[in-house]
Amino acid sequence: MVRNGHITAIGQKGSIKAPAGAARVDLTSKTVMPAMNNIHIHIGYEGYVSWSVENHTPENVLDHLEREAFYGVGTAMAMGDQPVDFAFKFQQDQLAGKFPPAARFFFAAGFAPPGGGPDALLIQGTTPLHAVNEVSTPDEAVAAVRKLVARKVKELKFWVDNRDNSRGSTKKKMPPEVYTALIEEAHKHGMLVHAHATNLQDQKGVVKAGVDVLVHTLAAEKVDDEFVAILQAKRPYWAPVMGLGDRSELCDGDNPFIEQVLPDTVIADIRAGKTWLPSPPCSQPATAQFAQREENLKYNFPKYIAAGARIVLGTDAGVSAKYSYGFAEHHELGMYVRLGLTPAEAIIASTSRPTEVLRIKDTGTLAKGKRADFIVLNANPVENIRNTREIDSVYLYGAKLDRGALQAKFRQALVDRDATQAKLKKDYVAHPPSSRKLID
Ligand SMILES: [Zn+2]
Repeated sequence: MVRNGHITAIGQKGSIKAPAGAARVDLTSKTVMPAMNNIHIHIGYEGYVSWSVENHTPENVLDHLEREAFYGVGTAMAMGDQPVDFAFKFQQDQLAGKFPPAARFFFAAGFAPPGGGPDALLIQGTTPLHAVNEVSTPDEAVAAVRKLVARKVKELKFWVDNRDNSRGSTKKKMPPEVYTALIEEAHKHGMLVHAHATNLQDQKGVVKAGVDVLVHTLAAEKVDDEFVAILQAKRPYWAPVMGLGDRSELCDGDNPFIEQVLPDTVIADIRAGKTWLPSPPCSQPATAQFAQREENLKYNFPKYIAAGARIVLGTDAGVSAKYSYGFAEHHELGMYVRLGLTPAEAIIASTSRPTEVLRIKDTGTLAKGKRADFIVLNANPVENIRNTREIDSVYLYGAKLDRGALQAKFRQALVDRDATQAKLKKDYVAHPPSSRKLID
């Protein structure tokens, strides 16, 4: 039973008495699961026919959150890529009910060494907007954290990546003394810290330093005993965010589940590998490197889990149309199961556990007092994780989403954008025309 956006009672058929005048929705033979919650996306820059800082508007952020909702996602956290003023304003406007139903917006403030941090595409959005705090020393890190404390920011994310050794003014990735100071200061103020780290040395470093959420999975190396021991000691949350490195599901033939929210031109572009973040076309056979990645994932994933890493859903959606808002979640869940979780464990990782990271108690499970955020499915995902895709309807805050209208809007909006931004398209040059020359 749902009232004023919340679940007021839940139980066996016949055990709950509905008040007079209540509307009854017959879900006989359906399965109801909590809406998913995603702690790692990049939002606002994707335009499908362009990827540009010029796309970063409240309207486009809302579009992305509506896409999340369409696929059954109730909350989504932008990870280190939003200007703080913009993010707070958007959050307040959403809380004030100024926007139509969509996934609830959360954000973490970003930290990186000068000129470093986000990947080659995302950085072309974050740099012009000054979305990432650039710090070179422990003192700078502490000062920047304190500024965010004053502004009541709750979560931080920092990047540690070898790619920073070959770009940016410092020509080096964030060193341990800087991120250790950052984590310690953030923890003093009750903030939660996420770390992007993609190799064994850096993953060991950030987990040892006490990061709350480890982001990414080792794909080019294998976990070793020392790292397992560190994971066992620290038991961080772990957002594997693996699917962006996969071939698009669109390479496997018709895929109405994904195709329903994209215009045909974008679907064709994805299959041809013409995405803004470069990816191989479907016609290119899988490389030896790809096979090695798969082998490493199969080896590493169960080791993280067995060591006590607390898996939590993140997708990295927002840098490539091939792995975009909403459908990426369902792919990521499929990977969890393929790599060793049970479907029930994958569902927990995508529903209740993310609320621990978001630090919200009002959603993530179906229980009295929780928000009525749920997905009605035509089949049971505990039996087969692919059944999360059998969506009959999505309810957020007790209201049924008009998925048909949303779907039409997604396709229409892209067509409109195509018309207004046709001048930007020009055969997908390597970088969006709006990008500035950021690094020497
Ligand atoms: Zn990311």
